[in-house]
Amino acid sequence: MEFDLIALIRERCARPRGDVVLGMGDDAALLEVPAGQQLVASADTLVAGVHFPPQTAPGDIGWKSLAVNLSDLAAMGAQPAWVMLALTLPRADGDFVERFAEGFTELAGKHDVALVGGDTTQGPLSVTVSAFGFVPAGQALRRSGARVGDAVFVTGALGDAAAALRLMRDAGFGTRNSMNEQTWAELQARLNRPEPRISAGLALRRVASACIDVSDGLLADLEHVCEASGVGAVIEAGALPISAALKGTFAPEQCRDYALCGGDDYELCFTASETDASRIEEALARTECKITRIGRIVAESGVRARDAHGGTLEPPRRGWQHFAP
Ligand code: ADP
Ligand code: MG
Repeated sequence: MEFDLIALIRERCARPRGDVVLGMGDDAALLEVPAGQQLVASADTLVAGVHFPPQTAPGDIGWKSLAVNLSDLAAMGAQPAWVMLALTLPRADGDFVERFAEGFTELAGKHDVALVGGDTTQGPLSVTVSAFGFVPAGQALRRSGARVGDAVFVTGALGDAAAALRLMRDAGFGTRNSMNEQTWAELQARLNRPEPRISAGLALRRVASACIDVSDGLLADLEHVCEASGVGAVIEAGALPISAALKGTFAPEQCRDYALCGGDDYELCFTASETDASRIEEALARTECKITRIGRIVAESGVRARDAHGGTLEPPRRGWQHFAP
């Protein structure tokens, strides 16, 4: 059974790449790292009921399990190359694997990523992907480079995924009933099929001073940048990029709270000196990715969100944390 599933995964997911000397099928993969490049490696686990609602479509789970990992590579400024997939399934469910593979390979194809190995086990539904990419030696983006006076930017729009999750739960059902189909589909797609900001990450090499992907919520993730850099940040709440779908569904303060604290956005939050800020705006204009300047790095530690009158906002919670009391 296990071997049938592995064969099915291989049939549906394996994609060729010139730098894969030996892919799925042996005890381990053999891979060729290009000269002068550093290998960038990351792993993320999605557990049913924790990272996605149990009713999530298998194709969406496939897409998202890869997307969250490619997002980590994007945040490092890396070009993705290879992934490994550790799949834990309650039973040998070929139908699930086929539909999972559809979402997984759709995204893998977009970024020319090859599945080179993994593991298949029985247990509660859980997906762990490890992703590997390249960056020219010394050019990786890190969390630790933000300096006082730098501008803070974010790609895309914030808060959609958290809003969609809320609407899927009972509390949001009334609102969802009154929404138009298109808006609901847009918000749901942002939760289930996030687009890793690979081209933005590549364009930010050597110009951004620090970078992180927003997975737990803007305030929480920017806090990580600030801690690693020994600085603080002030965010102008009025500048936060909010999608038309979110704006059309919730009151302005709710949109703002989703944008500040909601998780699962997988946008990039990055910093740049004032002189590099204009170079960044130019470089990103050549990609499809919109960016918005949302604040500034300051000496005083902590991340503060300000309203239009300069008052400090106190959102209900700062971000998602496992093992929270
Ligand atoms: P081993 O017992 O040596 O770990 P497995 O039977 O687990 O071997 O795996 C056989 C081959 O299939 C290996 O190359 C492994 O990397 C690959 N593989 C197993 N499960 C997966 C999966 N879910 N996705 C991709 N490759 C997999
Ligand atoms: Mg194994």
